[in-house]
Amino acid sequence: MNDLNPRPFIIPLFIPNMGCPHRCVFCNQTSITGQEDGKLSLQQVRGTISDFLGFKRRHRGPVEVAFYGGNFLGLPKPYRQSLLGEAQIFVQNGQVNSIRFSTRPDTITRAALTALAPYTVKVVEVGAQSMDDTVLSLSRRGHTSEHTRDAVKLLQGHGLRVGLQIMPGLPGDTPESILETGQRVAELKPDFVRIYPTVVVKNTVLEKWYGSGRFKPLSLADAVELTKRLYLLFKARGISVIRMGLQATGSLLEPGAVLAGPFHPAFGHLVHSAIFLDLAARELEMQKTLSKRITLRVHPRDVPKLKGLKNHNMRRLIQRFHLEELLVLPDPAVPVNTVRVEKLQVQRA
Ligand code: SF4
Repeated sequence: MNDLNPRPFIIPLFIPNMGCPHRCVFCNQTSITGQEDGKLSLQQVRGTISDFLGFKRRHRGPVEVAFYGGNFLGLPKPYRQSLLGEAQIFVQNGQVNSIRFSTRPDTITRAALTALAPYTVKVVEVGAQSMDDTVLSLSRRGHTSEHTRDAVKLLQGHGLRVGLQIMPGLPGDTPESILETGQRVAELKPDFVRIYPTVVVKNTVLEKWYGSGRFKPLSLADAVELTKRLYLLFKARGISVIRMGLQATGSLLEPGAVLAGPFHPAFGHLVHSAIFLDLAARELEMQKTLSKRITLRVHPRDVPKLKGLKNHNMRRLIQRFHLEELLVLPDPAVPVNTVRVEKLQVQRA
């Protein structure tokens, strides 16, 4: 199997809210993961891994078993080790490459990491959520940004790959604190980040606060704009952003599951489209003269991003640059993330 393949085949095993010392104000993992609370049995671990291996077919990336949806290092040690042991059997027989899990920063200790030694754990995802201590406190996270900094150093010192999750728009957040969190996260040099703008999920404290007017989520437009800026910041520092926006699981799509906030099934696409709108506008601005009929060439992969959802970007560009016709041509010769403006004929007024 090819360990250099950046897209692993992930076998997710959910432990909704298990190992959590309390509930953070925004969290309802039953809705987010689509799985009811309850202890994951070793039999379920075995069964799920075997089932997923059956779906793998010709996927050539590394296979990783992932424990998500709870606070993995907060689980009682014997149970945690038994889950890891079960996954490790598949590593030993060559069907799985490695194991990963998500956990709170304040559970990452030298002793907890030493206890991982018998297992092939290669990636740990840390729920940082914010690097602003006021925001963390208002969100009742029960840890500070210092815990996240210490946790990342410990993980990196143990040679583990580190992912950081952040949630722009938590209680007390402002555009400034959100971008500052991005800066602080980038300074920690994680291997990747996930950006989940905060939404109001049913059966959470945030639901009550939203109902009483104590909490107001980001609008979709603001969340897209801020996530775009975070994405570009991380990209400039060579940090991959592997997810933007909550995955639209069946349970989250049920009516009433998400009560408010910037939830959109294609959130990541909206962010990429916003980036391409800026790119195209910048290219058009840079032209000394501008035809009323222009063609934009992009790599075929980038066509949907340039056009935007339901051609949103096309309409914006036509309006802003007073165009009569705007054509998008897929062109494999154009590098990805690049927009080329074609032949300019008519002077801009
Ligand atoms: S955010 Fe993480 S630590 Fe907080 S309740 Fe949810 S799963 Fe537990």
